[in-house]
Amino acid sequence: MPHVFPPAAITALPVKGSSDTFPVRRVYCVGRNYADHAIEMGHDPNKEPPFFFQKNPDNLVTSGEFPYPARSTDVHHEIELVVCLSKGGENIAVEDALSHVYGYAVGLDMTRRDLQAEAKKLGRPWEIGKAFEHSAPVSAIVPAAEIGHPSQGAIWLKVNGEIRQSGDLNQTIWKTAEAISYLSGLFALAPGDVIMTGTPAGVGAVQRGDRLEGHIDGVGDLVVTVA
Ligand code: MN
Repeated sequence: MPHVFPPAAITALPVKGSSDTFPVRRVYCVGRNYADHAIEMGHDPNKEPPFFFQKNPDNLVTSGEFPYPARSTDVHHEIELVVCLSKGGENIAVEDALSHVYGYAVGLDMTRRDLQAEAKKLGRPWEIGKAFEHSAPVSAIVPAAEIGHPSQGAIWLKVNGEIRQSGDLNQTIWKTAEAISYLSGLFALAPGDVIMTGTPAGVGAVQRGDRLEGHIDGVGDLVVTVA
């Protein structure tokens, strides 16, 4: 049956060392998965466990450019490990969860902090703060078949050459397998689902012209310019 108009193109992420791409289905994000970031945002990680929110698949961009978004004067960087699934399921056991992972990437959960803060205050959803155009710059995906499943190692972000965020993957409250398992109890996961796993402390505002350089040991680098 013909569509009433041509369907939107799917988002497909590059895979390092391959001409094949990774077709994205959904984007889930973990909130407050590093205790030191929860604390800097004014929360007690011992009282409030991490949680999930979503971005849109077409918010993922690999152009290396982040256009400063409209309606905000306080846009923050959040450097994150991105987990890309090639197998889905519901109620996935923690012990099986990593076998659902195709690979990993370095990502930025760009956030309109002023709009998010207003949404929090009013008890409203977070989309206007989180799920806007170009809000998720990512690197190429590195297959787990090549690098394994990183559970420790440095994760950092420099702005104009200066370290702003610095942590270790081993500081996450929910480990990757736990996040997948937990998420699969709430939603039916499927190949192409992507999980952004939270950010360490040091989030802060970006300005037009800034050069953001992110790194995760064993996964790679991501360089993004704010336009
Ligand atoms: Mn985040």
